[in-house]
Amino acid sequence: MRLANHDGRAVLVLSGGPDGGKAADIATASQGRFGPDLASLYADWDGFTTWVRTALTGLSPDVVLDRALLGSPSPYPSQVAAIGLNYADHAAETGYEVPTTLPPVFTKFPSAITGPYGEVTLPPGGNTDWEVEVVAIIARECHQVSEDSAWDYVAGLAVGQDLSERVSQMAGPAPQFGLAKSFPKFAPIGPWLVTVDELETAGHDRDDLALGCAIGSGQEWDTVQDGRTSKLIFSIPRTIAKLSEVITLRPGDVVFTGTPDGVGLGMNPPRFLRSGETLRTWVKGIGELEHTFR
Ligand code: ZN
Repeated sequence: MRLANHDGRAVLVLSGGPDGGKAADIATASQGRFGPDLASLYADWDGFTTWVRTALTGLSPDVVLDRALLGSPSPYPSQVAAIGLNYADHAAETGYEVPTTLPPVFTKFPSAITGPYGEVTLPPGGNTDWEVEVVAIIARECHQVSEDSAWDYVAGLAVGQDLSERVSQMAGPAPQFGLAKSFPKFAPIGPWLVTVDELETAGHDRDDLALGCAIGSGQEWDTVQDGRTSKLIFSIPRTIAKLSEVITLRPGDVVFTGTPDGVGLGMNPPRFLRSGETLRTWVKGIGELEHTFR
């Protein structure tokens, strides 16, 4: 299934895309048992998915999607974990060693979360960079889960942008990721959550998804990142197992799984987002984000 946040209400996308697609309002269809908020679905993910399986064929669309109304499929997670240096080529372009036993982990503060489309304000005096990432949304509370079972704790995947302001990131005696990656709207997530079974039914491999992003102004688009999740150093299930060695992941929590090479910081000379430019971010099989910078 594709589960979207449309104007703050959980909807099941039945057909079409983010503009004009048809969806069913979950609170209406379930007569108030689930929704309307997204968090309530993650809180009872097994009950919700069981209901969807029985109700799906009888659902009729009552919502026409408007991309301006789409929000993050997990708008208020209790935690956001983000992984650094999780692709070897990206570690190399930033001048760091490849992690072997534990990847660098930081948070993007949840107030930075925004939806799949919109405008983002560039922090003055900063160098704002792009990082396409697959985002995993957690379905069930978990602590110390094995890599083999970790996919069972994932509700689904979404497209994420780990927008990063490099001046403040590098300003202190040690790099600080949390603040530099948490300006307003620096954590776009969307356009919806896609469950793993939906991805696989459509012929995609959950461990080998194509992801990328392109910068445009007007008609010209420059693809700056073009990677595959099969090149993750810590795969999505291994990342969840590693995180859960320490923290308890909760329903609705968000994991940014790392970015491939092609960020602006790694270019020679470095290149950052400019006012008026638009960033398109995609994961094949999930969808696309689009943000314009001011
Ligand atoms: Zn990142």
